[in-house]
Amino acid sequence: MSQKKILLIVCDGLSDRPVRELDRKTPLQAARKPAMDALARHGVSGLMDVIGHGIVPGSDTAHLALFGYDPYKVYTGRGPIEAAGTGIELHREDVAFRCNFATVDGSMRVVDRRAGRIKKGTSELAGAVTGMRLGDVTAIFKESSEHRGVLVLRGEGLDHRVTDVDPHHEEVILESRPIVPEAAKTAQAVNEFVQRSHEVLLSHPINEQRVKDGLPPANAILPRGAGSTRELGTMKERYGIDCAAVAGVNLVKGICRMVGMHVPEIPGATGGLDTDYRAKGEAALRLLESNDFVFVNIKAGDIAGHDGDYRTKVRVVENIDAMLGLLLKDLHEEVVVALTCDHSTPVSVKDHSADPVPITVSGGGARVDGIKEFDEVSVAGGALGRIRGMDLMPILLGMADRASKFGA
Ligand code: ZN
Ligand code: ZN
Repeated sequence: MSQKKILLIVCDGLSDRPVRELDRKTPLQAARKPAMDALARHGVSGLMDVIGHGIVPGSDTAHLALFGYDPYKVYTGRGPIEAAGTGIELHREDVAFRCNFATVDGSMRVVDRRAGRIKKGTSELAGAVTGMRLGDVTAIFKESSEHRGVLVLRGEGLDHRVTDVDPHHEEVILESRPIVPEAAKTAQAVNEFVQRSHEVLLSHPINEQRVKDGLPPANAILPRGAGSTRELGTMKERYGIDCAAVAGVNLVKGICRMVGMHVPEIPGATGGLDTDYRAKGEAALRLLESNDFVFVNIKAGDIAGHDGDYRTKVRVVENIDAMLGLLLKDLHEEVVVALTCDHSTPVSVKDHSADPVPITVSGGGARVDGIKEFDEVSVAGGALGRIRGMDLMPILLGMADRASKFGA
């Protein structure tokens, strides 16, 4: 029996609720999507609770579950995920924080938590504080998107169980405190980093120019969300498969890197509404040649959902469908193809919701259950039934003839 390859396509936040303006259809029900429907017709469908019934998934916890990692066991704050997303390679002992560039006054009171949503100059500012030595701990700091950044503390005897420096409001910045005694050294290092980086940033030319231009200076860094990667283990170690990912958005790329996937940079794959769908599809096909498992994330549906923009969401469905059409045309029929979402982002909610997402799988050992359309309601009659996100990898490996026998 030959083992098959697996292609997992996750349409971020595409799943929705009935929209009044669409005649109480969801964007998936309202859109024209011949390729998605063909996939459903040739495969087996169902509904998926990505984390569990009534749990609203974040994109990070959702993707961990989809890859078969129990988010309740391995999720330790967003710091490591954000860090991996910026390309910093985390060591097992590292503690990572998400940070904001912020503006503080003379008494360290936060005046603007996002430093006027600073966009330009953050890589120079980051360059001025990264590499700082805090006793025997090294601070690695990297800018992320807009006013965000990532702090990684590297050294011996660190522990991620510390409180945030970021007060989350416009008040005096907090001192990080250890939640457990073992984390005292980490809290001390964070506090020293915040103090000394403030001194460096205060007199940085970028900030002097911002003040001249009447803009709030990015004169402080506010760490929060401390975490470590613990012992995640790679997908290769878990399943014995070579994995690659096509994704535009840093958070998702970060998770893929944390579980050991190969994540190439794909020109045009932005993680935004303007993403190059064709480039993503072509990259997926290319990666399938040398990998057993290829994962594709398309973020645009989530963005339209957060914007509450049902028209754009319908268009996103049709754009993804066109990409899928091209992909399927060139795909070997033996490949197991799964199409699903990481959570629902209903336009009526403008945020994620606990509603289960549609899933359809075709190719390889997948059965054909007579479901003809890929949407939130049609799939409910499918033979896959209702599964959890954590069930997905074992099911796909089974259909790809990669599951191992239990017993004689
Ligand atoms: Zn998401
Ligand atoms: Zn979202």
